[in-house]
Parts: sequence; structure tokens; C-alpha cells
Amino acid sequence: MALTEFSLIERYFSRPAAQRDPDVVLGIGDDAALLHVPEGMELAVATDTLAEGVHFPLHTKPEDIGHKALAANLSDMAAMGAEPRWATLALTLPHADKSWLAAFSAGFFALAAEYRIQLIGGDTTRGPLSITVQILGLVPAGMALRRSGAHAGDLIYVTGTLGDAGLGLRVLQQPIELSAGHAAHVMQRLNRPQPRVAEGIALRGIASAAIDISDGLGADLGHILQASGTGARINMAALPLSAAVNSYVNHSGDWHTPLCAGDDYELCFTVPAQKRPALLDALKSSASGCTHIGVIEAAPGLRCISASGALITPRAGGYQHFSANE
Ligand code: ADP
Ligand code: MG
Repeated sequence: MALTEFSLIERYFSRPAAQRDPDVVLGIGDDAALLHVPEGMELAVATDTLAEGVHFPLHTKPEDIGHKALAANLSDMAAMGAEPRWATLALTLPHADKSWLAAFSAGFFALAAEYRIQLIGGDTTRGPLSITVQILGLVPAGMALRRSGAHAGDLIYVTGTLGDAGLGLRVLQQPIELSAGHAAHVMQRLNRPQPRVAEGIALRGIASAAIDISDGLGADLGHILQASGTGARINMAALPLSAAVNSYVNHSGDWHTPLCAGDDYELCFTVPAQKRPALLDALKSSASGCTHIGVIEAAPGLRCISASGALITPRAGGYQHFSANE
């Protein structure tokens, strides 16, 4: 039987919440959802679109698209130190393909269950494949991590490892010599990013500034520097690399991948030096851990220093959807 818009929503997206959430006054089914924001909390809101061929290659598995659409949004909550709670989903589909919808919603809801996110609404239209998720979360008033709080002398950290997703994308685009194990690792990192939500929450009151790395370390750290009115020095030899990226960089000399490639969804954050012990304590049980990669400086600009002491200039500005000469 063909799916109507309403049977599609009913069948694939209006799932009962695993646990009743007292802050959801009204969920899917009306013209808007109603949420209760608890006393003393601020509502953090972010949205991210994934467009086919731009944010994920053609032929990406629908489970992975469902996972990634939510993961990218959870990562924005992580970067704010917010606890993600609710999501809306705007889906534009070329056609109502049942097996695609079943796999997409399985990927989406598996990650939603892991983080206890309730889908509270959305929109379903026909057109070229595009997925927009809006995420809503809570953070104690005044405690959100912003981009603008870094000061000269603050230490710069990143969670996890850098360049894995970028290398995964390269594997899809051109033949690269990589062991089967390394290839599987970088594809997993590209298709199944793990948002650093617990780490972001643990950084409240410790990090002076934070951002998630969606467009590459150079570009995203650049946003912290711009918002904070500072510069930075990065020690390239300190960048945390997986075995896969490490062996690739040693072979190819391509430092551009860990420094500038996007899609890793790790956090980059700054910490005043005296809070270093508190940081190490806060992240001691973190799965991703964190690595000290550099220091905030008063002089504007990003200075990347190689192991031999040479200055490396990162290629301009990460991924940009619109260029200045359009
Ligand atoms: P309206 O026309 O008033 O915008 P719709 O008929 O589009 O509402 O949607 C009916 C209900 O289903 C709304 O509560 C809406 O939030 C929800 N909804 C629509 N599409 C989705 C989706 N893809 N996922 C989750 N909820 C959805
Ligand atoms: Mg309406």
C-alpha cells in the first residue's frame, strides 16, 4: 500500500517515548509541540541540515544518514555544554521509499535512544533528499560554553582524534593505500560520528570557550579566536591521531587532513592553566579523552608549528558552502 504523508509519519516517526518526559507537555500530532523549561535552566537550540552530495556522499546508507543527522546536532549541544533533550525532524524526500525510511528511522532512533532524545515534531515534504534536524537542550542559566571566552595563556585541547572522517572521505574519492582495518576505522568515523555530549557537560565551569569540529580544526578554532579576539599557537606534533591517520600522514606528509578536514565532531576547547587539574579530573572517565595541543596568544592569527619548528599555514578556512565570488 502506498504511504500517505500521515501514514508515513505515523509509521516511521511517531514512536512512543521509552519513558514519559514530564517536560514534554505536547508531542507529535498538533501544530506545534509544547515544552516546559525547568526553573533555572536556559533552552539551547540548534539546527543542522544534511543535503545529499554535500554533507554525505551519494549512496551513503540510510541508517548512517539517520545517525549522522542527529549526531551533528547533538554535537552542537555538546559544544555548548548543554544536555540535549528534544528534536524535530524536517525531511524532504524524492519519494516515500519504505526500505529507505525504515533504515533511516532505525539509525536516527538508535542514537536518539542512546541519548534519551524525544522526537517532538517535524515536517515531511517531497523534493531532493535533504534532512534538517533541530535539537533542543537544557543548560543551567549562565553556564553554557561559548566561543567568545578564550584568553591569552589559556590551554587549547581537543577530544578524541583528528582527521579520521576526512581520511574516510578521501578513501571514497580516490584510491589510497590503507589497511583494511584502518579503512574500516575511518569509514566508521565518517559515517557514525560519536558526539561528545558527556564531555561538553563535564566542561561546564572549566572551559573558557568551546566549539565542535565540523569544518576542520583550523577553521573551527579560528571561530573561537575571532569571537574571543585572540590568536593561538598549535603544536602539530601534539595533534592526536588515530593509527590510521598517523600512518597515512607519515606516508603522504599530508598534514592538511588532520588540521583542516571536517566531520570529526570532536570538541575543541580552551581552559585557563590553573583549571588543568579540574579538567583532567572532569574527563578522567571520558571515552574520548582530551589532548593539549596548543595555547591561546594575544597576537591575532593561528600559528601551527611543525615538529621541526617550521611554521605551517593551514589552507584557508575549512569547508564553505558559498564563496565570496558567487
Ligand atoms: P502542519 O501542517 O500543521 O505543519 P503536519 O501535518 O506537517 O503539520 O504534521 C503533523 C504532525 O506531525 C505535526 O505535529 C508535526 O510536527 C509532525 N511531523 C511531521 N513530519 C514529521 C517528521 N518527519 N518527524 C516527526 N514528526 C513529524
Ligand atoms: Mg499546522
